[in-house]
Amino acid sequence: MTEQTGQGPEPAHERASATQIGARGPEGLPDEVGAEPGQADRATTGAGRPEAGVAVLPAFDDHHPPEQELIDDCVHCGFCLPTCPTYVLWGEEMDSPRGRIYLMEIGRQGEAMNDEMVRHFDQCLGCMACVTACPSGVQYGKLIEATRQQVERRYPRSRRDRAFRALIFRLFPYPRRLRLLRGPLRLYQRSGIGTLARRAGLLDRLPRRLSAMERLTPDLGPPEPVPEVTPAAGPRRRRVGMLTGCVQRVFFPGVNAATARVLAADGCEVVAPATQGCCGALSLHAGREAEAQGFARAAIETFEAAGVDQVVVNAAGCGSAMKEYGHLLRDDPVFAERARAFSESVRDLSELLVELGPVAPRHPLPMKVAWHDACHLAHAQGIRAQPRAALRAIPGLELREIAESEICCGSAGIYNLVEPEPAAELGDRKAANVLATGADLLVTSNPGCLLQLRNALERRGQRLAMAHVAEVLDAAVRGAAPASLVARER
Ligand code: SF4
Ligand code: SF4
Repeated sequence: MTEQTGQGPEPAHERASATQIGARGPEGLPDEVGAEPGQADRATTGAGRPEAGVAVLPAFDDHHPPEQELIDDCVHCGFCLPTCPTYVLWGEEMDSPRGRIYLMEIGRQGEAMNDEMVRHFDQCLGCMACVTACPSGVQYGKLIEATRQQVERRYPRSRRDRAFRALIFRLFPYPRRLRLLRGPLRLYQRSGIGTLARRAGLLDRLPRRLSAMERLTPDLGPPEPVPEVTPAAGPRRRRVGMLTGCVQRVFFPGVNAATARVLAADGCEVVAPATQGCCGALSLHAGREAEAQGFARAAIETFEAAGVDQVVVNAAGCGSAMKEYGHLLRDDPVFAERARAFSESVRDLSELLVELGPVAPRHPLPMKVAWHDACHLAHAQGIRAQPRAALRAIPGLELREIAESEICCGSAGIYNLVEPEPAAELGDRKAANVLATGADLLVTSNPGCLLQLRNALERRGQRLAMAHVAEVLDAAVRGAAPASLVARER
């Protein structure tokens, strides 16, 4: 049972124990203590981060705490450290995978869950670079997922933190609510108010999280609805369901339309059920277990009813979450088996296209393309070769690799909204590496990465054309000119 040791400053013995294990705030980030009134409210990292001042004893309850056997797989070798974005930024042990696993261990041993412990878990991007790097096969994804669920269930976040997270989770997983925003947002963007406010430095006066939200809003184009059924061009090879997503559907409708055209050109009948909702990825990756389970059950029922062979996903974060449904619903007697079968049917777009082999001829696209590995594609799903193979099959396209490709760009679901400072540092680092490729076009597979990188480039005063891999393949299939991709900037 949860015992909260009080609102207000955490008890001295809990502070001491966190300090003993080396936990402290990242260096080099603004320490807002002593800042002018109001300044501290804007910080999300460092000493001014909104924290609850509460310690929960013990840290974990009996409902799926991080598993001891998985913790024991870590042999403390440290091979994961150089690929962990937060360790790369701050060099702090407790902001590394090994440090976070140690915090899980002491949490299991009865240590209190306090602000410092939660901060180190919150600052993890969930990028899974450590999973790729780990020679011992540590399943960090399951560990951090279980830990985040404990945090969300047991730790009373500060009022401001709760309010901001409530805004995110009452908005982003609901395409209808997002769609209502399209009109006012288009008006805001076309009026130029945002540009003026930015130039006048007014956005810098907003709380950092709200300012990040404004800067990460995509430029909205016209809606491009996807038909419920797109017939295969030529003989039907598969009947596939297509996840249209929440952010993707409302803010990047052209990506879904391109995905359906490419799949149809390669012999798939594409079913995009109009009744589908959110896949639950944002909720799952933020530790909101019950909410994620609800979305997962609904998605399974929707695609089962559609009678499809496979479910194809064009957003890396969504695909990785849907491949985890079997684990997410393992305790549900009605859905456990259905969820496992469903997860096995899920394919990333590039994974399915390479599995099928191309049918439609690809027309030349003579251009230099930098491929950005989205973490939830490369690390969480292990999909690296397929998008590269799909792009290399386009005549004339020159693929360029980005240095430090294993390091996250800082997008990471809602990370760039709730932890904007480290997200911006990682974005800046990635933007520099992208520009160094000399590419004409940046291509990736996740809407969040596109927004994050556009924002990072804008901070440098630079722009670069960006596209989803589906849009590049679609242009090659349709014989569109490279200018049709390069002319657009996200
Ligand atoms: S998931 Fe990413 S940020 Fe979190 S510990 Fe692993 S490498 Fe570090
Ligand atoms: S997570 Fe893996 S790579 Fe990292 S310290 Fe543990 S065993 Fe080594």
